[in-house]
Amino acid sequence: LYVEHPLGDGQSVPLDRDQAHYLFGVMRLAVGGQVLLFNGRDGEWLADVEQAGKRAGVLACVQQTKPLQMPPDLWLLFAPIKKARTDFIVEKAAEMGAARIVPVQTEFTNSERIRQDRLQAHAVEAAEQCGGTYVPEVAELQKLDRLLDDWPDGRQLMFCDEAEVGAAKRLASNTPGQPWAILIGPEGGFSDRERARLSALHFAYVVSLGPRILRADTAAVAAMTIWQQALGD
Ligand code: SAM
Repeated sequence: LYVEHPLGDGQSVPLDRDQAHYLFGVMRLAVGGQVLLFNGRDGEWLADVEQAGKRAGVLACVQQTKPLQMPPDLWLLFAPIKKARTDFIVEKAAEMGAARIVPVQTEFTNSERIRQDRLQAHAVEAAEQCGGTYVPEVAELQKLDRLLDDWPDGRQLMFCDEAEVGAAKRLASNTPGQPWAILIGPEGGFSDRERARLSALHFAYVVSLGPRILRADTAAVAAMTIWQQALGD
């Protein structure tokens, strides 16, 4: 179960209404039962149920069962598409171990707004589901050009473009353990201007994901797989 509260030896963890409903209503836990907790910072902890009510409850941490496992320093940058497909991208990025998920607005991006809180909740659920101890941050929607203007020193960019021919061979010339970002475009692809700017960046690697044009959500999963294979640790 994901909680916001700090976790540590003997630490009491109060539960809110939704968490109490889930544990005691849906999962049928009661006082004396145990549950695994994580908060994205302190690893995974086994906790005893100390108080169980309909609208609240208290857990007490017993022992750490996993240390915090940080994912590789990989950001997934993607242009938000339709709601369900955007949800899918966030869920899969969290499952596959992105450290940060950044929705970007490109020239041909369809949506002008995202529900950051909802996307963050999807990232939490995905981390919960795959037994992760880390939850990637879902950033605010940012303009691609602004992001490139303020690009952090030392971070490489895997720019996925269907106009590129050839495989991801050049990625493998890098060493694992460096900060990276993957960029996936919107349904309409990148504009000529964006493509020219991205291709000219010294930290960008233009990568093809094969000869067919993939939907953005498929492309995100394929790109993360290729990156993991070439550079993940
Ligand atoms: N411009 C295209 C069009 O409308 O025909 C489609 C763009 S595609 C649906 C969305 C994004 O997925 C692209 O901007 C790119 O980042 C990525 N993508 C899809 N297929 C790809 C491929 N074969 N190689 C590299 N990137 C790909």
